[in-house]
Amino acid sequence: MVAKGVLVERRAQLLAGTTDEADLPARGRERLGGSLRRVLNGTGVILHTNLGRAPLPSPAAAALLATAEGYVNLEVDLLEGARSSRDQHLAGVLQELTGADDALAVNNGAAALLLASAALAGPTASIVVSRGQLVEIGGGFRIPDVVAQAGAQLVEVGTTNRVRLDDYRTALDAGGTVVLRVHPSNFRAVGFVADVDIAALCSLGAPVIDDVGSGVLHPGMDLLRDEPAVAQSVQAGAAIVCFSGDKLLGGPQAGIIVGSADAIEACRHHPLYRPLRLGRLPLVALVATLALYRDPRRACREVPALAMLSVEPAVLHARAQRLVDRAGGEIVDGVARVGGGALPLVELRGPVVALDAHVPAGALHARLRDGDPPLLARITSERVVVDPRTLREDEIDFAAAAIRRALS
Ligand SMILES: *Cc1c(COP(=O)(O)O)cnc(C)c1O
Repeated sequence: MVAKGVLVERRAQLLAGTTDEADLPARGRERLGGSLRRVLNGTGVILHTNLGRAPLPSPAAAALLATAEGYVNLEVDLLEGARSSRDQHLAGVLQELTGADDALAVNNGAAALLLASAALAGPTASIVVSRGQLVEIGGGFRIPDVVAQAGAQLVEVGTTNRVRLDDYRTALDAGGTVVLRVHPSNFRAVGFVADVDIAALCSLGAPVIDDVGSGVLHPGMDLLRDEPAVAQSVQAGAAIVCFSGDKLLGGPQAGIIVGSADAIEACRHHPLYRPLRLGRLPLVALVATLALYRDPRRACREVPALAMLSVEPAVLHARAQRLVDRAGGEIVDGVARVGGGALPLVELRGPVVALDAHVPAGALHARLRDGDPPLLARITSERVVVDPRTLREDEIDFAAAAIRRALS
């Protein structure tokens, strides 16, 4: 099967005019190990959803390596020998970082919202949400459809652009039981707009679920100032705050739920917790990532997503120059993006490498993508552009070699 697939693919390449050398046995051996491969991200999109969002911090990768092949104390208290919960490993550090009573983790942000809605509202209750916050998160998936799967009825208040505290109050008086706030992670409304802040929502007395999207644990960074900080929602009194592990938090795919002791207990005892809970591998990586945030300066340095956001222009320039020295092309001004449905308006300006090519940009782009290792680039003004922002220091030489091969 594998050999046949490789041959079919090679035949298609030859018919399409590809004349480069191809080591077909090597390709076949590689495919036998599965189709997932390490790729080089030269797109400049930091949280590239199709490339697995956030690259892991080194301590998280090391923790995975140290535990993956063996057993771990996932649900065993090593001091007492008693059975414990896997969320114990998260609760302490998240209490410290957010001020919440308790915490647990599930498969992703959408699962966190589903579980929170089911546990706090369920089929007999209704969730009050602003019409301006009925967000489509990506891949055609919509927040209201996810919440509907919890069985709760959704009560929409306000209009697309404006909602007032009174709108929520009226809906709660008419029988609404829970308030949901959803951060507009991937879009911004400007102009004649009005919103209600989290503290005001919490003052209404009903339990509030705050879906903050990215999970900013360290709001000290300038670029993150406009993102809702988890600790602020906890302090305002939200019963539950949910967020993703692999957006601006910069860890593995996960959905994190922090909140009051009662609310987290309700989540933990809900039947959906079991199908949604986080597996041990992402949990190991998540705990190691969160530990970095105990020292915010260390997090900015060692969490790759944060480091890529704030990298110095001189560092980018040196990387771009090294690419040009080894693989040609010229340094031009470019714009990188945060991606992953976060900070949609932010344009990260910096030097990028526009490649020289004797073939059309589309063909070179495809050849880089099909290389070994694959290098994902972007096309700007009909030139293939490689952005050094999303390449690690130790990936630059591999990227340069990949470019040379694609050009030869
Ligand atoms: C991204 C996002 C989600 C979904 O999170 P995933 O981790 O992608 O499942 C839910 N709500 C908001 C506000 C988001 O930004």
